[in-house]
Amino acid sequence: MERVGVVGAGTMGRGIAQVCALAGYQVALYDVSPEFLDQALVQIQASLSKGVARGKVPPEAADRALAALITTTELSVVAASDLVIEAAPEELALKRGIFQDLDALAPGPTILASNTSSLSITTLASATQRPDRFLGLHFFNPAHIMKLVEVIRGEFTSDATLEAGLAFVRRLGKTPVLCKDTPAFIVNRVARPFYGEALRLLGEGAADVATIDRLLESVGFRMGPFRLIDLIGCDVNFAVTQSVYAAYFQEPKYRPHPIQQRMVESGRLGRKTGQGFYDYREGTDA
Ligand code: NAD
Repeated sequence: MERVGVVGAGTMGRGIAQVCALAGYQVALYDVSPEFLDQALVQIQASLSKGVARGKVPPEAADRALAALITTTELSVVAASDLVIEAAPEELALKRGIFQDLDALAPGPTILASNTSSLSITTLASATQRPDRFLGLHFFNPAHIMKLVEVIRGEFTSDATLEAGLAFVRRLGKTPVLCKDTPAFIVNRVARPFYGEALRLLGEGAADVATIDRLLESVGFRMGPFRLIDLIGCDVNFAVTQSVYAAYFQEPKYRPHPIQQRMVESGRLGRKTGQGFYDYREGTDA
């Protein structure tokens, strides 16, 4: 595997593209409009510069990574890769449409992968004629820092595809964990009550956002639930919660909270919009 395509240049796609380029792959990053791609490139450059300044990335490696990365609004360009990783919004119909198109454009041996947090890999794979060359590669946020990658085997994923996925993750310097194709896999399923109970406490007025976060951080969590939701994106977190709730046939413990809906509908999506449970705009001290 030498060429990697990444579909969606948002929070996750740009991080995945950066990691792949640093690991020596030729990377094509796709999004629906050039503005999103320009923003992604600025952020990747800033992230690499930060890595260089902190002594974590050698300057030549940062230059090589940038030279190995192209951006495109043509799906056929990303499809011409050995592996294509999709990181578009968490919507089943949208992702299935993307995979249908990729399947038609990509060469036969190309492996298709989804970075979905909660949707069924088998269902996504069924939008293609290559369910044997399809798997889940679930990176964590921020993708250039977090070591864990869940490697999800769909019903029809072949042994060869799974091996290729595991080898790819190892070459990135990350730790693969093999998962079955169950809703939300391992980490996101375990994390649902972490967010859900915190939202219920907030909704009941038991404590405010900062207090709940501080309490959980004081017992060892790196980030409290609200700080983490802001990092993930309130929209992404809400979409994943809804998908897990539906996938478990309205199991009450996964029920979304109206606060999540209110945050999304009022445009407070977290760090990416400058406001979420905390305020990140200039002059504020979140
Ligand atoms: P995001 O909203 O930051 O980015 C999504 C990107 O997809 C945007 O740039 C958007 O322009 C683009 N897009 C929209 N329609 C598209 C289309 N038809 N084709 C291609 N691109 C399209 O979202 P994100 O946080 O990067 O999440 C992407 C995926 O990764 C989701 O499936 C999410 O569940 C998963 N994920 C997110 C996180 C997280 O912490 N944010 C962590 C792990 C996995």
